[in-house]
Amino acid sequence: MKKLIAFSSPSGGGKSTIVKRILTDFPNFVLSISATTRSPRTGEIDGLHYYFKTFADFKQLIDTNQLIEWEEIFGNYYGTPKSELTKIDGKKCLIFDIDVKGALSMKNNYPDDSLLIFIAPPSLQVLEQRLRNRSSDSEQQINYRLKRAEFELSFKNQFDEIVINDDLEIAYQNVIKILKANTNCF
Ligand code: ADP
Ligand code: 5GP
Repeated sequence: MKKLIAFSSPSGGGKSTIVKRILTDFPNFVLSISATTRSPRTGEIDGLHYYFKTFADFKQLIDTNQLIEWEEIFGNYYGTPKSELTKIDGKKCLIFDIDVKGALSMKNNYPDDSLLIFIAPPSLQVLEQRLRNRSSDSEQQINYRLKRAEFELSFKNQFDEIVINDDLEIAYQNVIKILKANTNCF
């Protein structure tokens, strides 16, 4: 059974929404908190949503080998601290909200323990609408995220499971079914 569960999707695909609900509904799932150089969005708290770092501090994490994986995305650095793995004890599973390359390198490092779930938007048009409705990114950021979406979608067949996020409730129930079949964390 799997202990490391990665969720990837194009930005705006719905992975944070789905992950948040899993964390609320099932206490044995805990979130891996990433380090990033991006600025906090409204409501984001250091140490809860991300560890917000300067570029210099992030570089030090790389240089001292403290990250499992890291990527440059949208002009910022994002990476998973090795220390997050200490959160797995007993019945706990660790959830990662990371980009496609980060998810694949995690599977490469921990092939027996990793389950990769790709959350796909029903279409690029719907994705654009959701990014706009989220109102958290500038026009430039939205265009950047849409441009990257096709690149991210091209990785979906390398994932263990693909869930289409059209109706949120159906997508969530499909994710829970997959987690019940592949983990011992309920
Ligand atoms: P991601 O974490 O993949 O970037 P989010 O979870 O932030 O994406 O979702 C992007 C936006 O789309 C959010 O405003 C969210 O509320 C909305 N959203 C997510 N899933 C759905 C859905 N199935 N139908 C409509 N809106 C959705
Ligand atoms: P956002 O800025 O929307 O929070 O995240 C942008 C992208 O970075 C998302 O695809 C998110 O999943 C990804 N991301 C967040 N943390 C990490 C990480 O630690 N490693 C990698 N590879 N990607 C991450």
